[in-house]
Amino acid sequence: MTGTKSTSEAVHIVGAGLAGSEAAWQVANAGVRVVLHEMRPFRMTEAHRTDGLAELVCSNSFRSDDAANNAVGLLHAEMRRLGSLIMRAADANQVPAGGALAVDRDGFSLAVTRALTEHPLIEIRRAEVGGLPPADWRNVIVATGPLTSAPLAEAIRQLTDENALAFFDAIAPIVHRDSIDMSVAWFQSRYDKAGPGGTGADYINCPLTRQQYDAFVDALVAGEKTDFKEWETNTPYFDGCLPIEVMAERGRETLRHGPMKPVGLTNPHDPTVKAYAIVQLRQDNKLGTLYNMVGFQTKLKHGAQQRVFRTIPALENAEFARLGGLHRNTFLNSPKLLDAQLRLRAESRLRFAGQMTGCEGYVESASIGLIAGLYAAADARSQALAPPPATSALGALLGHITGGHIETIEPGARSFQPMNINFGLFPPLPSPPTKNLDGTRLRGNDKTIARRQAISARALADLDRWIADHLHIAAAA
Ligand SMILES: Cc1cc2nc3c(=O)[nH]c(=O)nc-3n(C[C@H](O)[C@H](O)[C@H](O)COP(=O)(O)OP(=O)(O)OC[C@H]3O[C@@H](n4cnc5c(N)ncnc54)[C@H](O)[C@@H]3O)c2cc1C
Repeated sequence: MTGTKSTSEAVHIVGAGLAGSEAAWQVANAGVRVVLHEMRPFRMTEAHRTDGLAELVCSNSFRSDDAANNAVGLLHAEMRRLGSLIMRAADANQVPAGGALAVDRDGFSLAVTRALTEHPLIEIRRAEVGGLPPADWRNVIVATGPLTSAPLAEAIRQLTDENALAFFDAIAPIVHRDSIDMSVAWFQSRYDKAGPGGTGADYINCPLTRQQYDAFVDALVAGEKTDFKEWETNTPYFDGCLPIEVMAERGRETLRHGPMKPVGLTNPHDPTVKAYAIVQLRQDNKLGTLYNMVGFQTKLKHGAQQRVFRTIPALENAEFARLGGLHRNTFLNSPKLLDAQLRLRAESRLRFAGQMTGCEGYVESASIGLIAGLYAAADARSQALAPPPATSALGALLGHITGGHIETIEPGARSFQPMNINFGLFPPLPSPPTKNLDGTRLRGNDKTIARRQAISARALADLDRWIADHLHIAAAA
């Protein structure tokens, strides 16, 4: 796919992190010139330490590499099929980590830096883009990440008319719908109110007795919290988004009068008994496979979250698609602001990629850089590129960012929050496997495993078809 001559206008990519580096590689390998703008080392972020491209700011893990059973492993496999530089550099710099793909961070960053520096169609400019990209950059990818520099973040905020773009982010956990015990919980909106697009039964409700509530509050207050980092102290909390344990510390009854208030709801399993407190979960994706815990943003450590939240009736066996967390984060309200090809609706020459679009994680950020690169290259060549299949990990993640998430039906804090790839984002199988190869019935965990493996096999087959049908045409033209 690599070409060395290009007559089309250059694609300008701002930010050479995980997403920007992958995007640059994809654009250049489609035969289109790239100017890659990176502000480090002249201006550093609060977390980056080096001048290397694709620097990993925290852990060195790309998580599970199991393509058959794990959604991020599947995303790895798809990216490898698409010639990903990030995956190539990761594979070449792997360190032992069981089933996970972990890398030597310096070797990894060096491999990416070298590949991009040596590519004949890529020019790297070490300078901050300190505002909206100049008007004569007609085809731009903004991939400046969760720690986007302030002048650019402010310019984007003004352009998008959003109240805020960077938050001190306390995010709430998301639960797989099929792990919630509906013999205990029930569907109902408060006062059966049908908001815009709602039915009046849009929430899953989990009832607590007084004793359960008291024990829950005690566990929250005692739970182990993540420490504040020094650089986090100057960033404000996202309005109306106080961590739940901070609320609990303010008084035993605070949660009962806040996110856990038991009013306007009747438990159909036990209509005469009034719950002392109620936890509500709200649908998070169009498929209805994921539900977020309303008002449960938290900075409890991950182990403590699982332990404490599984004490809530109906959530004893909850599987979490994402746990809560806390850090500064710059990201767009993408389902509202971006089109299906990641272009800003308000100014379509600007395309976004990486964590700024509301995905979470190194691999996810790089994968959105990959697809943004393919789209930008197609634009540069005046070609149309069909979207990746919605059944693939790449298509499922892209779909979530650009429309799959459901806006909250209440006014207040933005409901769209960064998301890792997970099986809850994939369209369900038309006929999920029910039997083992020997004809016996699949049960319990075996059923989940078989379903995931079938989703993964479908994803790779559909992606291969998409590559064969669309990408060789774009590259050959
Ligand atoms: C503190 C922290 C810890 C994290 N830990 C993990 C983790 O352990 N595992 C994980 O999977 N994910 C983690 N993430 C989440 C996320 O996956 C990573 O931040 C990931 O690097 C995002 O990729 P990106 O390409 O969108 O942004 P980045 O990799 O951050 O790349 C953005 C690049 O843009 C540059 N830049 C910013 N503004 C400008 C500008 N105006 N002009 C020019 N260049 C600019 C930056 O210098 C940077 O090189 C963490 C995030 C944060 C903030």
